[in-house]
Amino acid sequence: MVSCVCTIKYMQYDSTSVNCWLPLVPFHPGGIDRLRALAPGVVDYPYFGAERSNSRIHAGIDVYPPAGEGASLRAIKDGTVIKVGLFYTRYTGEKTYAVLVDHGDFVANYAEVRPPALVAGSTLNMGDLVGYISGTRQLHFEMYTPGTTDWLWWYGEQPENLLDPTQMMLKLYDLD
Ligand SMILES: [Zn+2]
Repeated sequence: MVSCVCTIKYMQYDSTSVNCWLPLVPFHPGGIDRLRALAPGVVDYPYFGAERSNSRIHAGIDVYPPAGEGASLRAIKDGTVIKVGLFYTRYTGEKTYAVLVDHGDFVANYAEVRPPALVAGSTLNMGDLVGYISGTRQLHFEMYTPGTTDWLWWYGEQPENLLDPTQMMLKLYDLD
């Protein structure tokens, strides 16, 4: 049974259905209040630029849909898939995948998803299914400059083609 309970611009969410748009309540445990606290330069576990182990730096933003594992993930804009591939293998052995999409004015990486049905060259309309959230229960979202053909792991200086998605995401939520 489908019952979308919220619409935030391009995104709708509910807690029960995988047929709705991406459930995009961000950043548990603080939910929307946590998102309001977002600001450039903020360093916290889900945020862009947060420190990870082995001197790696978090290259994206983590978003936690209330539906958790298996929640549907939808394209935030029209686009064309550039690359689909293994993102990383979890400690549980589960393989998580990434879908790199050319959205025109930026390239997005929708990562930590189950094996996607999409392939390079697939076209997406806003709202089309990208995949399903893996056992990490989160979307790891990265943003790159146009022309980017692969995702990266961030060490040291911020790579030139890697963008902070914070402001774009705040706009999606009407919080900018
Ligand atoms: Zn992440």
